[in-house]
Amino acid sequence: MIEIREDWCKGCDVCIDRCPVDALEKSDILNKRGVRPPKLKKINKCNYCRLCELLCPDMAITVIAEDKKEEVNKKLLRPVGGRK
Ligand code: SF4
Ligand code: SF4
Repeated sequence: MIEIREDWCKGCDVCIDRCPVDALEKSDILNKRGVRPPKLKKINKCNYCRLCELLCPDMAITVIAEDKKEEVNKKLLRPVGGRK
């Protein structure tokens, strides 16, 4: 799963240019900054290497490996200040 905070993107295309498996492309929408943020291609070979997340200068991308998705969702659903 790749989460893109579309309005944080400044359209530098670093993520698209550097993805080792060419999994990203520009989306069709314009964000608040007037640029087209990236999206995963319909057919892609994303291997969750996180390079796009690490290189994005605006921290607009979060990569969550498929096997960690459930774990992350549980954490997000935990009430603030709640116990495990
Ligand atoms: S996680 Fe890696 S393979 Fe997937 S889109 Fe980002 S750079 Fe490409
Ligand atoms: S690297 Fe970040 S700021 Fe640059 S195009 Fe990708 S998401 Fe947007």
